Amino acid sequence: MSLRIPGPTPCPENVLQAMRKQMINHRGKEFAELLSEATSKLKEFFQTKEDVFILTCSGTGAMEAAIVNSLSPGDKVLSLSIGVFGDRFATIAEQFGADVTRLSFEWGQAVDPDAAKRALEADPRIKAVLVTHNETSTGATNDLAAIGSVVREYDKLLLVDAISSLGCIDLQTDAWGCDVVVTGSQKGWMVPPGLAFVSVSERAWKAHAEAKMPRFYWDFTKAKDFLEKDQTPFTPAVSLFYALDAALKMLADEGLSNIFARHARLGQKAREGVKSLGLSLFANESCASNTITAILSPDGVDSKKLVQTVREEHGIVLAGGQGSLAGKIFRIGHLGFVNDADIDDVIAQLRLALPKVGYKVPVG
Ligand SMILES: *Cc1c(COP(=O)(O)O)cnc(C)c1O
Repeated sequence: MSLRIPGPTPCPENVLQAMRKQMINHRGKEFAELLSEATSKLKEFFQTKEDVFILTCSGTGAMEAAIVNSLSPGDKVLSLSIGVFGDRFATIAEQFGADVTRLSFEWGQAVDPDAAKRALEADPRIKAVLVTHNETSTGATNDLAAIGSVVREYDKLLLVDAISSLGCIDLQTDAWGCDVVVTGSQKGWMVPPGLAFVSVSERAWKAHAEAKMPRFYWDFTKAKDFLEKDQTPFTPAVSLFYALDAALKMLADEGLSNIFARHARLGQKAREGVKSLGLSLFANESCASNTITAILSPDGVDSKKLVQTVREEHGIVLAGGQGSLAGKIFRIGHLGFVNDADIDDVIAQLRLALPKVGYKVPVG
């Protein structure tokens, strides 16, 4: 089976093998070296000189950490949402008592930075802005540099869900003024699920000092205090650190710009391939993602049936639609350990599978 969903993504064999090692003392020297090495490599991928922490949790845990470490109940927050994960970020903030203004854009479109600017202009009490860099549910990528520049202009805190983009698509944490950025190990990092990485800017530390939302496991102060002695506050997922170490070495060997170029090429290939089958992309092409392609199911075809056929008869696991897009779209993940041949294969298998669910692929 080839896994072409947007996480968990396939892991290279040596990353899997790395996890077979015996446990070590997480308060000992060996783990200290692992943690310190991984943290400094991650800073390069985040393109930040500020703090980066490795948390033992899935991506959503890091989203919650971003919220509870930066805000107090009653704080005004602007949510910029273009899909399921943008909505989730807003919901987390609401659950912890933030006063969230939801600025939502049509699914398949990107955030309009001018609309964000108007919202900030209209309500000076807004303290923080929540945004998803790459909306996995719709296959659209936001112009984070433009959004960052608006948020800086109004001197607000910018909290970014970059779970399905960081390490694949350019994200300049410091240069773009991102205060807290989160990502998860099972997306572009070629590591199994269970670790999340989060950056914290100086501005975020200032907010943190006043933030009163309840937190214990997620507390950035604890993370920072322990990182000073190359430890984590609580028992980390030690085996995943072995995997992370192996994966970061591979990614560092490939190099940031080559990784971005590969994802750009694969994204382009996926979009062209899908169009060659006569299908339509769900996301506006001007903001189409280089890590995930969302495709409209052909008229009269339930995408669940197509995904099932491709899995059962063609050995490829695709993703369906989430939320209101269930049955209407399907998605090809092309992030992490993936190459040109993988995308060619998906398109070739789709060409064979589509007629079985009642769609005639146009010739030529
Ligand atoms: C996968 C994903 C999440 C959720 O991450 P989990 O690891 O499942 O908690 C959140 N946001 C985006 C953009 C994602 O792609």
